Amino acid sequence: MNIRIGQGIDVHQLVPGRKLILGGVDIPSEVGLLGHSDADVLLHAIIDALLGAAGLGDIGQQFPNTDKTWKDASSLDLLARVWGTIQTKGWRVINIDASVLLEAPKIGKFIPEMKVKIANILGISVDCIGIKATTSEGLGYVGRGEGALAQAVVLMSC
Ligand code: MG
Repeated sequence: MNIRIGQGIDVHQLVPGRKLILGGVDIPSEVGLLGHSDADVLLHAIIDALLGAAGLGDIGQQFPNTDKTWKDASSLDLLARVWGTIQTKGWRVINIDASVLLEAPKIGKFIPEMKVKIANILGISVDCIGIKATTSEGLGYVGRGEGALAQAVVLMSC
């Protein structure tokens, strides 16, 4: 059996007047993530982990922020497109583990819904997906509420 690991990391700025979408879930918030797409920092980290494991570059190469096609794109759609490419090569996901660093709002109660959305796209069980939320204890840009960071690792086999 061929086994691959991949990791991804992403950062987006938090600003007023944008939706806060994490793991494909629209979370009530006075600030949201700024980006060319919906700026779903968690899904972007997962996409980069998948692309890295598959040796297919990164999200910026797949969906350039200079391409109007991806303006305000749903990152669930981007994940589905990436997975569509990777699964044709015979890969399946064994598990994903991800962390989101965000000072506010609290997102814990939305994590089960995020897992369902991701699991449905990847064709895996929700218990193969780990998503954790943490703050940075007031330190740095995350602590000041200026942005959010997400990191993900994925294990795949074929
Ligand atoms: Mg991003």
